Amino acid sequence: MSKFTNEKKSVKKQISRGGEIGKHDGFKIHCQQWLEGSSPSSGTKILNIKLTEKILRLIITIMYIDTHAHLNFNAFKEDSSEIIEKCLTDNIWMINVGTQYITSKRAVEMARKHEQGVYAAIGLHPMSLETGLVKIKADPNETEERIGEKQFDYEKYKELAVKNVNNGGKVVAIGEIGLDYYWRPKTQIRKKLFKQKQKELLLEQLKLAKELNLPVIFHCRMAHQDLVDILKENKELIPEKAVAHGFVGTTEELEQYLEFGFSVGLNGIIFKNIEGINFKENIKKIPLEKILLETDCPYLTPSPFEGERNTPLNLKYIAQRVAETKNIRPEILVEAATNNAKNLFGI
Ligand SMILES: [Zn+2]
Repeated sequence: MSKFTNEKKSVKKQISRGGEIGKHDGFKIHCQQWLEGSSPSSGTKILNIKLTEKILRLIITIMYIDTHAHLNFNAFKEDSSEIIEKCLTDNIWMINVGTQYITSKRAVEMARKHEQGVYAAIGLHPMSLETGLVKIKADPNETEERIGEKQFDYEKYKELAVKNVNNGGKVVAIGEIGLDYYWRPKTQIRKKLFKQKQKELLLEQLKLAKELNLPVIFHCRMAHQDLVDILKENKELIPEKAVAHGFVGTTEELEQYLEFGFSVGLNGIIFKNIEGINFKENIKKIPLEKILLETDCPYLTPSPFEGERNTPLNLKYIAQRVAETKNIRPEILVEAATNNAKNLFGI
């Protein structure tokens, strides 16, 4: 008997027990709503759904990959295991992304606990670099107190990666790395030094990605032109496979990343109104084979749940919005994004 027939039986059995179909419930509701062309809303309970063969097949086969999650952060200290289990049951896989050594290590530990479905990226985020040039506020959602690394310990990160690339393939990328100009040092000299230090950090980590033949997850805030220029100046370090995660920029900036062959990660920020940014236009411009879906949880909770802590379980709302904007069926978008993620990260 095929896996599908088996699962179909189990779904039907659960429904006959009284409406709740447990692990497939969320998918049932969303598939049904997608097929009817309406938007999913919170707390919806659809009872007595007529389960056609088509819906059942969708319920069972739709699979998501959250390519940028932070269940390795302090915000999930109490319940990360619970959330991961829920995601895996709902067919949502994830990559937990490191931002410094401690969160990278934690991402690896989480990945190692699961045979499949949970992966790690490791790296030193530009904001986690302690430059002494600007005071950066601690983010208790990330770590209890600000740690900050004075320099990039190449060998230490390499060891963390190597141990877990060769042994089970749990580290699937170097990231998140890049440039972040949100915090500004006060003087011109300091500003220049600050940018220089971020650039050096980025180049070191691009070297590591090359050495280990791993894709790169780029974080870039208010610094797209510098990132593009740095890559063009250091052509030998341009990663073959990379994603511009949580892209917020102009259409021209987007095009530059696409020219490098990079993928683009879309998350809940697309629900926001940001001056000078046309998310709709950007989404239309990204070819389907370059789209990745991500939550960046615990941040950037998509509408209609703003204000709540984000989790990978919300990925479907981002998928829904992207599909609407691209005017394609959500299941087509999700299937493409999942395949893109598998190809990019080798999972
Ligand atoms: Zn992130």
